[in-house]
Amino acid sequence: MKRRIIGYHQDERGDWVAELDCHHGQHVRHQPPFTLRPWVESRSGRNSRLGMHLNCVRCDALELPEGLKSYKQTPTFTETTIPRALQAAHSLKSGIWGLIHVLDGCLQYTLERQGDAPQSIHAGKSAVVPPEVPHHIQATGPVQCFIEFFRRQAD
Ligand SMILES: [Zn+2]
Repeated sequence: MKRRIIGYHQDERGDWVAELDCHHGQHVRHQPPFTLRPWVESRSGRNSRLGMHLNCVRCDALELPEGLKSYKQTPTFTETTIPRALQAAHSLKSGIWGLIHVLDGCLQYTLERQGDAPQSIHAGKSAVVPPEVPHHIQATGPVQCFIEFFRRQAD
């Protein structure tokens, strides 16, 4: 899915990595004649690309970025106490990730991306919620679950 470039750093080999607002990194190399990104070679070129979008396949794969910090969690909900707001389409803010933990029973989790089918999260399992993607949860029977939220350490 499309994510915005919010900064850059160089890896240990000196190659430039774009930092995306999802907290994933993505190499932006200038390797003629295969990959042409002359803009990455200069500070002004890099700055000119801030705010532009790159396709993040690690978000598509629901990969929780490394180095995030758990900062909040909901109370444990049961099938009768899951807030209505979570049962209708809603999304996490930019840069915020979630983990839905199912302690007991089973919970249905639907990411509303094209081609996504509802998935069942079973007792002892967790599912990743990426930022800014509409989703909802639904109890189809007895369940105990809670949601844990993550953000970047510095935020
Ligand atoms: Zn990403």
